[in-house]
Amino acid sequence: MGKFKGFIEFERTDERLIPVKKRVKNYNEFTIKPSEKKLKEQGGRCMDCGVPFCHSGCPLGNLIPDFNDAVYNNEWEKALHLLHSTNNFPEFTGRLCPAPCEAACVLGIISPPVSIELIEKYIVERGFKEGWIKAIPPKNRTGKKIAIVGSGPAGLAAAQQLNKAGHSIDVFERDSKIGGLLRYGIPDFKMEKHVIDRRLSILEEEGIKFHTNIEVGVDLSCNELNNYDSVVLCGGATIKRNLPIKGSDLYGVKQAMEFLTLQNEVVDGIKKTTESLNAKGKNVIVIGGGDTGSDCIGTSNRQGAKSVTNFEIMPKPSSERSEENPWPYWPFKLKTSSSHEEGIHREWSILTKEFIGDNSGKVKSLKTVEVEWIKKEGERPILKEIKGSEKLWPCDLALLALGFTGHEPDLVDKLNLQTDNNNQIVTNNYQTSVANIFSAGDMRRGQSLIVWAISEGREAAYQVDKFLMGSSKLETKENGDLPQVR
Ligand SMILES: Cc1cc2nc3c(=O)[nH]c(=O)nc-3n(C[C@H](O)[C@H](O)[C@H](O)COP(=O)(O)OP(=O)(O)OC[C@H]3O[C@@H](n4cnc5c(N)ncnc54)[C@H](O)[C@@H]3O)c2cc1C
Ligand code: SF4
Repeated sequence: MGKFKGFIEFERTDERLIPVKKRVKNYNEFTIKPSEKKLKEQGGRCMDCGVPFCHSGCPLGNLIPDFNDAVYNNEWEKALHLLHSTNNFPEFTGRLCPAPCEAACVLGIISPPVSIELIEKYIVERGFKEGWIKAIPPKNRTGKKIAIVGSGPAGLAAAQQLNKAGHSIDVFERDSKIGGLLRYGIPDFKMEKHVIDRRLSILEEEGIKFHTNIEVGVDLSCNELNNYDSVVLCGGATIKRNLPIKGSDLYGVKQAMEFLTLQNEVVDGIKKTTESLNAKGKNVIVIGGGDTGSDCIGTSNRQGAKSVTNFEIMPKPSSERSEENPWPYWPFKLKTSSSHEEGIHREWSILTKEFIGDNSGKVKSLKTVEVEWIKKEGERPILKEIKGSEKLWPCDLALLALGFTGHEPDLVDKLNLQTDNNNQIVTNNYQTSVANIFSAGDMRRGQSLIVWAISEGREAAYQVDKFLMGSSKLETKENGDLPQVR
């Protein structure tokens, strides 16, 4: 345990942020590193609980009390080893994870939980700075070849694990750069892209081969996949939910991902300008909450929107946990992201009825109605429009951030994979209905989180290795084969 009664002595520290006025002038990350002393103290706040609920909150099963203790005792390299034993890419989760571990932290019952995500981020950053994170190519190769389709966090985690087991890995990505949504969905102000490149150069040095601009099923045929002993499908959940109402085909009604991807491509230098789709001087309405909606708000403010409004169909959540949603479950309470803090008008319980255009076919306003949710015991809440609450909102750009409905069907159909009634790929321990084809991440579980994608990539890798070799020494939550450090 870090410091006896440390949780009484030290208050929780979060990262300080560069002031809003300054940070919205560019697309850089805007967090300020806490001092070494503060980070150690944060590790010292951990109580090393007999039953560490933080573990159960983390989909990766990160060894949280152990690395907290190591940080408190200034054993940063040990902390890094512990962190890497369950998480291939803590630099992604340390920046982007909503931290279900913190929601489950026992300290959270009586006081702010341990700043687990902060500690995670600075362990891995210290590791890169000190040069402790190096390529570790496998000593022997098995002669087995594996194709990974898609290079988001699930594909990358599966690739690194399977390469570690000695298999030869080809990762195929249809985009021009590797990273999936980390690269072209998530804005740079949440994670600068050199963070991905830094990790990719290590994966390449370890022997993983990356092939970009190749869509499997189109540029590389399904027959060519037969050259591989196994295939892992990690293509994400890319079908965007639409809003099929009057006026949704007007110019200026756009999918959030088009807007976010273009800005990321401009920051990346592969596109010159966002002129074809940007928020400058416009009344922007973002329809839908969640990470995608929040990222649209941050991007609109950086592009110089005249106003930014966010509509959410659900009622405004309370600022505290409700009785039906106790610790250690994920708290469904009001979330205010750093992008919200940068300027937003938020409306809840509001339904978009129609987009209204001008003579040239451009959206000029949006018609809404307020709604209430009628709850009946044992039934799902029913939405009811409130008569007389219709309202018109000026709007030059409407961004649809309504989530994703699942994976693209083409490749799955071509490979003859079995799907269920919800069009999800049927898997058993990540194995599809075709024995040597596996699937992981958003493509398998539907739209989710980076931490789940990494976890699924790791677990699928273990199953593939076992399938090819009869047994596997890869770490997995299933065999509990994690380092014994306590
Ligand atoms: C705007 C936005 C913001 C988000 N912010 C957060 C956040 O802050 N924190 C968080 O935890 N999660 C966040 N998420 C969710 C998170 O990004 C995803 O859950 C995660 O990236 C899923 O990883 P994946 O590897 O399964 O798929 P993806 O990251 O979607 O990667 C799939 C890749 O497969 C490629 N592909 C698909 N089909 C083929 C094919 N046939 N051939 C070759 N390549 C193919 C795609 O081009 C893509 O690059 C966000 C999502 C969005 C959209
Ligand atoms: S639940 Fe919180 S206090 Fe307890 S071991 Fe985990 S991080 Fe430490």
